[in-house]
Amino acid sequence: MKTKQHNFSKLAERLKSSMIRELLKYANMPGAVSFGGGTPDPETFPRHELSKIASEILEEEYKYTLQYSVTEGDPQLINQILILLKRIYGIEGLSHENILITVGSQQALELLGKVFIDSGDYVVVGDPEYLGAISAFRMREPRFVVAKFDEDGPDIDMIEQKIEEIDRAGEIKKLKFIYVVSNFQNPSGVTTSLEKRKALIEVAEKYDLLVVEDDPYGVLRFEGEHVPSIMKLGGTDRVILLNTFSKILCPGLRIGVVVADKSIVRKMVLAKQGTDLCSPSLTMRLAARYLERYDVLEQIKPAIELYRKKKNEMVRALENYFGDIKGTKWTNPNGGLFIWTTLPEGYDTMEMFKFAEQNKVFYIPGEAFRPYSEPSSSMRMSFCLPSVEEIHEGVKRLRTAFDQYRVS
Ligand code: PMP
Repeated sequence: MKTKQHNFSKLAERLKSSMIRELLKYANMPGAVSFGGGTPDPETFPRHELSKIASEILEEEYKYTLQYSVTEGDPQLINQILILLKRIYGIEGLSHENILITVGSQQALELLGKVFIDSGDYVVVGDPEYLGAISAFRMREPRFVVAKFDEDGPDIDMIEQKIEEIDRAGEIKKLKFIYVVSNFQNPSGVTTSLEKRKALIEVAEKYDLLVVEDDPYGVLRFEGEHVPSIMKLGGTDRVILLNTFSKILCPGLRIGVVVADKSIVRKMVLAKQGTDLCSPSLTMRLAARYLERYDVLEQIKPAIELYRKKKNEMVRALENYFGDIKGTKWTNPNGGLFIWTTLPEGYDTMEMFKFAEQNKVFYIPGEAFRPYSEPSSSMRMSFCLPSVEEIHEGVKRLRTAFDQYRVS
């Protein structure tokens, strides 16, 4: 039977099925070890506490929780967010008008695309970069200005050089923002150093640009010192801060937060109205009551401890099984969920993937995180979901896969 050809938009024609979804199709088969997914461990979710609050607010606050909310978000949750911004970042003096609650920070990325990017505009991103940001921005057809993401954050010289070129071409107004995941970046696990954060602000000042700081992982620090956020250094004139409750509480609530200059929040509110009118009242109020009753930064501590342990085990396993392979390296993050492992030059983790799959071990090839999808010798390995035994077994299988790939 002939399949019907629908008359989709140009944008719809550009939508592709996620490479990650395709690659991880078999990652849940029995006996497989997956370092692929970047989701938190469900055992860390405070399900009993949330369940109790949920039944209370459904009965007692149904006039709010089962009704539409305002587009900006539940004011009671915003109160709690203002308290958290002070506790986490030392950011004070903001008001409700500086905050927008979104359906996960993924929606915030999409809205940023809507309110800032016209076709042909420039957006500075890293190599590697968070794939979801690339996909959200790509919908608006920007030109990506790609800067290498080193072991201490984005290559600032490269950024400056490319921005200078854009300025010389008289197109600086088309450069809409510099996007950076400041702590324990997805996918590399890298934290941008204080020097580079300051340098980013300097570049932004010099060329009158905005920096979008995306920070879902900062709270998941298991060792080392807190680094002041780019927002703390640059303020709302220069920085838009995105955060989320996905990693600190649970992703199922779908609550993201935008902290920005009032005029930016107002534009994003208008864009959000056309998308979904408002975020779900029920999950916003659930989060608000949870934050009032429990100290979320205390509650998350056992999860952080678990991730610390698993990260150390993954580093140990990599030393054991890849330590003898010259030119192989991996990041050793102080927090977050990911390790970025790089094979010697010339190897391609996408080509190796089929050998890994045969050995029932899964990861995400680095090319998935490159803005223009070039081949990569790196891979993202998440340590949060597999058990300690699975981590060792998985890395051992990865070595077998590498050996098979080498001689293929
Ligand atoms: N930004 C980054 C860097 C992420 O890794 C993620 C997803 N894990 C998101 C944004 C989106 O998260 P959410 O929509 O769950 O808030």
